[in-house]
Amino acid sequence: MGAETTADVIVIGAGHNGLAAAVELASKGWKVRVIEAKSSAGGAVSTQELTLPGFKHDVCAMNLSSFAGSAFYQRHKAALERHGLAFVPAQHCFASIFRDHSYLGVSTDVETTVARIRSVSEKDAIAWQAMLEDFQRKAPHLFSVLGSPMPSTALAKSVWRSWRELGKDGVAELLQLLLATPRDFLDRHFESDSLKAMMAAWGLHVDFTPDTAGGALFPYLESMANQAFGMVIGQGGADTIIHAMVGVLQELGGELLLNAPVKSIEQDKGRASSVVLEDGRRFTAAKAVIANLNPQLVFGRLVAAPAVPTAYQKKVDAFRPGLGTMMIHLALDELPDWKAGPELQAFSYVHLAPDLAMMSKVYAEAAAGLLPAEPVLVVGQGTALDPSRAPAGKHTLWVQVRVLPALIKGDALATIPAAEWSEVKEAYAERVIDVLAHYAPGVRSKILAMHVMSPQDLEHFNANLIGGDNLSGSHHLDQNFFFRPVAGYSKYKTPVKGLYLCGASTWPGAGTGAGSGYMLANLLAK
Ligand SMILES: Cc1cc2nc3c(=O)[nH]c(=O)nc-3n(C[C@H](O)[C@H](O)[C@H](O)COP(=O)(O)OP(=O)(O)OC[C@H]3O[C@@H](n4cnc5c(N)ncnc54)[C@H](O)[C@@H]3O)c2cc1C
Repeated sequence: MGAETTADVIVIGAGHNGLAAAVELASKGWKVRVIEAKSSAGGAVSTQELTLPGFKHDVCAMNLSSFAGSAFYQRHKAALERHGLAFVPAQHCFASIFRDHSYLGVSTDVETTVARIRSVSEKDAIAWQAMLEDFQRKAPHLFSVLGSPMPSTALAKSVWRSWRELGKDGVAELLQLLLATPRDFLDRHFESDSLKAMMAAWGLHVDFTPDTAGGALFPYLESMANQAFGMVIGQGGADTIIHAMVGVLQELGGELLLNAPVKSIEQDKGRASSVVLEDGRRFTAAKAVIANLNPQLVFGRLVAAPAVPTAYQKKVDAFRPGLGTMMIHLALDELPDWKAGPELQAFSYVHLAPDLAMMSKVYAEAAAGLLPAEPVLVVGQGTALDPSRAPAGKHTLWVQVRVLPALIKGDALATIPAAEWSEVKEAYAERVIDVLAHYAPGVRSKILAMHVMSPQDLEHFNANLIGGDNLSGSHHLDQNFFFRPVAGYSKYKTPVKGLYLCGASTWPGAGTGAGSGYMLANLLAK
């Protein structure tokens, strides 16, 4: 497609959701043009040599299980694989290390997981197996809800099917799960503090403390899905999905423009009809403009009053980010020597979030603008699964710090001054490495190079990550389901005719599941 031709659809932003919408529409015969601000596609799915040559780091997302389980992947699997998409499965998915340096972890072999749980509670070992059995029954229903536009006939059908197959008690249990706090849900099912901490750590990935309503779903889903289906990462890096999507898009005749930040969305006869780039170029769209963006980057910026009703703009202005994230990427001589045992080196993710009390404390500190005294860490050991990500015998470590303030008002330990992130990120990174070294003594001496991205750096890297929020909008109940991104507009439409949103800020939210892009494309071209 030449640069001058009118596309059927323009997609602003080549995040994986924008690309999913583009591929799906192109496969249905639409002329598609994707316009991306940065020099490469992928947004929060990116792999770069951030530290030293040959060390490939997943800048943001590393775990691609959501993509591997997505409807988009199922539909385009053959084409994506033809364009090089490959996953590496984890046999040992995730683990949590506790204060006494014991650990619990989920491996794909159920007996292995159950034996670990049995060592802390016989009762919980039985309860875990019962939950897993129940999950096999409920999973199709849950995933069907998560994969339906909100609201939609597909959703109504899915709820009706659940009612018929699970009965009213089963549906009531699902509803209860969707509303519960992690703590209440976990207390209802288990007795062991370590098992509860192992599961609750997943809540913090998506902005849920142990006591936030609606927070039980993710710990439940991640625990059960990892047990039932395992976890995957990308062969050679998470960007395997991006290269493949771009390859399929181009094969289908779609066009991708890089280094092309969009400055405005223009209308013709009350309908979004073209976009203007910062360099002045204009591109027209005959059927639709899709913004793979946080609504706060669109309304009041790319398109403004009078095209945007004041009431809608107010809702967009009130769309809350989740708390911030810091990413620390390490090039290592060897994997960490976990005091909890050498078998920890085989896990894809190691959570350093030893109990529910500290998770609550960290969140309260960060929400109050304080640098947490003892941060929660998600440690990704990509090279344990995929040695191709580093030179022979060497390793990368992906350290995600959850959760942090976007703007620093103080320090819970009162040792780091309240200042801009750019001034204190190295000091805070030292605190993070101290925590790592507590659980893995000697890790400092293995560090060959370190790359630190503060919440501010993450926003600079990808404008969608406002305040370093890795979700592009908190997932709390009032911003999820029918309310994402704002009440009344959960089905990707906006008040501007012909302008649609997709991406992490829209239903079903953050993650690499490509759900919003795929669902929107199917609403536009049935
Ligand atoms: C640190 C971190 C770790 C994460 N880890 C995981 C994980 O392990 N597993 C998982 O499933 N999820 C993870 N996530 C979440 C997941 O990566 C994101 O939710 C998802 O990738 C968002 O995709 P998206 O398609 O919505 O858009 P994005 O990836 O946000 O892409 C949006 C694109 O729009 C572009 N853009 C912005 N403004 C303009 C403009 N004006 N003009 C043109 N282009 C523009 C941006 O440059 C960007 O490329 C993580 C996120 C972060 C930040």
